[in-house]
Amino acid sequence: MSATDLRAMILVGDGLGDRPVPALGDKTPLEAQPTPNLDALAARGQCGLMDAIAPGVPAGSDTSHFAMLGYDPYQYYTGRGPLEALGVGLEVMLGDLGFRCNFATVKREAADLIVVDRRADRIASGTDELTAALNSLPPIDDIQFIVKDSIEHRAALVMRGPALVEGLKNVAASPKPIITDADPHEEGEPIWRAAATVPEVQVAAAALNLWIRQAHDVLKEHPVNQAREANNLPPANAILPRGCGMAPDLDPFEERHGTKGGLVVEAGLIKGLGRYIGMDVLDAPGATGGYDTDHISLAKTAVAALDSSPFVLCNLKAPDLAGHDGDPEKKMEMIAKLDEMAGVLLNEADLDKTAIAVTGDHSTPCALEDHSGDPLPLIITGYGVRADAISEYGERPCGMGSIGRVRGHDILPMLTTLIGTAHKFGA
Ligand code: ZN
Ligand code: ZN
Repeated sequence: MSATDLRAMILVGDGLGDRPVPALGDKTPLEAQPTPNLDALAARGQCGLMDAIAPGVPAGSDTSHFAMLGYDPYQYYTGRGPLEALGVGLEVMLGDLGFRCNFATVKREAADLIVVDRRADRIASGTDELTAALNSLPPIDDIQFIVKDSIEHRAALVMRGPALVEGLKNVAASPKPIITDADPHEEGEPIWRAAATVPEVQVAAAALNLWIRQAHDVLKEHPVNQAREANNLPPANAILPRGCGMAPDLDPFEERHGTKGGLVVEAGLIKGLGRYIGMDVLDAPGATGGYDTDHISLAKTAVAALDSSPFVLCNLKAPDLAGHDGDPEKKMEMIAKLDEMAGVLLNEADLDKTAIAVTGDHSTPCALEDHSGDPLPLIITGYGVRADAISEYGERPCGMGSIGRVRGHDILPMLTTLIGTAHKFGA
């Protein structure tokens, strides 16, 4: 069998991992929910535990997907801003700075702009027009400011200029914002003065502060805001950038792993990351990212994607939502959906030629209603795998499997070695 025939897939239950729940007889939702298809995959393969980033480190979905796609987040992750920009569909290029933003309501007091409402009453319409007005502002110090609006008051910003491209070549990747937030995070506070944390972005930080003032001047006169004020709604008369990060220096997926990659996910942030590294990002019909999502469509789209991309990652978002909602029964329901997705893989993927990993991107224990650093249950199946004795998919059964304990960025090499596309290290 040649490497070109072989395929690999990672099936991810977002926020899948959990802790023992007293109401479920001290089982986790995954252990309590019958999962015949996932158990069948476990029986065919090897099981183990996976730390998305490192033992005990609660991962975000973004850093965890960096890792599972084979990019060590400690080496490459540069913060939420650039991913947010990618997620809303902005183009992001190496040498750019990216930010998350809010449209907000401010009032002038002496020289300060005081934040009155950080979300401009969750402004529901007109931000596209406000964005267009901001995008017509001229560059400052040869730096372009490119904004795109998102849901409600949310938006993203990209700063781009030749001096930035040159300067950022010398800046090491770090998750800390390299320009501090202008968003004061609290109402009643003035918009903060953004400051450079490295000399290479000093000019950019000064330009950003000036742009925020210019943005206020444009927004406060804008017809959308005049109409809002006439209707006694707070105007979206300021934009508050935060979470600045430079575009991460990631080599394209195909170059790195020797195979094309496909992505079938629901979160914009992860889709944006996939596009950035040149993966084939597919939309599954009926996928909503919510409890009502068409999970069968996600699984079928992922299986179909294997025709053109020998590696595919597919993520079901819903288990994470149930974790955040603190609802173990709902989480079991969503795990039943994940199990049906595994059923689609069992029935429709050619299992002799397809290596499959099943795991989560982080734990979202219902008791915490947030992400935790608890490890995730992992299955690896495929041609040539040395199957172990574990035949039940759950946190504790997987803890007794032959893989032992690995990290998120180990999974992709474990799969590419099975399908014969891994690069040799050494002679
Ligand atoms: Zn996640
Ligand atoms: Zn979450």
